[in-house]
Amino acid sequence: MLFAEIIHPKKFKRKAIKCKECGLTYPKKEYSSLFSNYKLKYFYVKDMDGNQLICHNCLFDLLKRLSFGEPVKFVVVSEEHEYIIEFYPENYLTEFLEGENEGYKEEDSMDDFLRDLE
Ligand SMILES: [Zn+2]
Repeated sequence: MLFAEIIHPKKFKRKAIKCKECGLTYPKKEYSSLFSNYKLKYFYVKDMDGNQLICHNCLFDLLKRLSFGEPVKFVVVSEEHEYIIEFYPENYLTEFLEGENEGYKEEDSMDDFLRDLE
């Protein structure tokens, strides 16, 4: 199962944060404000190549690649919670299976998905 750890701006040490997949880069200060407004989250994802730093769009694209068209479960780790989430590749819907927001089914808004991760 894929583990994705939320990167909190206050704990990120460098001046700028960059997605390894798409290159999306923000100064830490800007990331902090986008993060607080639920517009953007970066994650550390463990895969075969080790720890990758990627943005939430690339996380979903990665899940889609891993899914082979079937729903796929993944884990999001935040400071206080651990969520088991099911991802539906055909429409990018997510469903929280365990942890906070259990059973909450999300309709295509990435903002809402980001909002539900504390
Ligand atoms: Zn990206």
